[in-house]
Amino acid sequence: MNCGDGVVYKSLNEAISMTFGSTVTIENRQVVHGGDANDAYALMLSDGKRAFLKENTASNADFFRAEAEDVAAIGDTDTLRVPTIHAYGTDGNRAFLLMEYIERKGPCKDFWDKLGCGLAMMHKADTSKYVNDGKYGFKSNNYIGAGKQKNTPKESWIEFFSECRLRPQFKLAEAYFDMDVIKAADRLMDHLDRFLFEPEFPSLLHGDLWAGNFMSDENGEPMLIDPAVYVGCSEADIAMTELFGGFDKRFYVAYFDSMGKVQGYEDRRDLYNLYHLLNHLNLFGIAYLPAVVRTIREFE
Ligand code: ADP
Repeated sequence: MNCGDGVVYKSLNEAISMTFGSTVTIENRQVVHGGDANDAYALMLSDGKRAFLKENTASNADFFRAEAEDVAAIGDTDTLRVPTIHAYGTDGNRAFLLMEYIERKGPCKDFWDKLGCGLAMMHKADTSKYVNDGKYGFKSNNYIGAGKQKNTPKESWIEFFSECRLRPQFKLAEAYFDMDVIKAADRLMDHLDRFLFEPEFPSLLHGDLWAGNFMSDENGEPMLIDPAVYVGCSEADIAMTELFGGFDKRFYVAYFDSMGKVQGYEDRRDLYNLYHLLNHLNLFGIAYLPAVVRTIREFE
């Protein structure tokens, strides 16, 4: 059973028994920390197997429909590993997502090279099946953390980044800005094409690639978790890896060796990350305002 079957379960017990067998039940659940949007648990099942469970309120059930779809999209590229999604649904006032439990082991010797090469392969994968009627976007809307992410297909990357990434976040954040900053943001939006370019080819992006969203599996191999996928410019994924401190430098060497680096990436990086800073401002509040304003000023 995987998320592709389209079944939305009405109870967690039903999802467990449909996935693992009719007599299998949950023996215990242990809280797993580290996420930022949901409650997470390692489940021990009555047949000795384990499963990983995420929960939220039933009103947020669409988070998990989207996560199942996003994980499946990355899985379809046959590049970096993602957990198998078993089921999702609601149970009373709770929404749940049930997936393969990954036993973590310390990273293997060439972990960073594999993560870098794997991501480059993912960025080179054919994207045609992920967007209907356009080059950039995704077949449905999803979430960036708990924030809504609009994925309306567009032929132009610059238009997509403008209309589906920056503009909705600017609109949500308006109350934080004085008139001077609003005018600077308008100027920035008016000339995005001075900074951004139309990529040679579109890439399926993880979309939320910070250090908490990859892990090493039971063999120490890299895998991706918790994506917010869409088809976009690969630089946007790499920019995010640098937002909160950056990955190991071996990751970048392996990635750019395989993918190539377009001149001026470093000059565009903060503009791509403005999307995430705005999202953090909208989700977590004023602590992110100085960084947002600084970035607007950098590109106005
Ligand atoms: P959230 O949606 O709340 O951000 P995450 O998907 O980031 O939650 O998961 C929270 C934590 O649980 C991660 O930091 C990771 O350590 C762990 N984790 C995520 N997926 C799995 C899994 N399939 N198996 C085992 N542990 C996992």
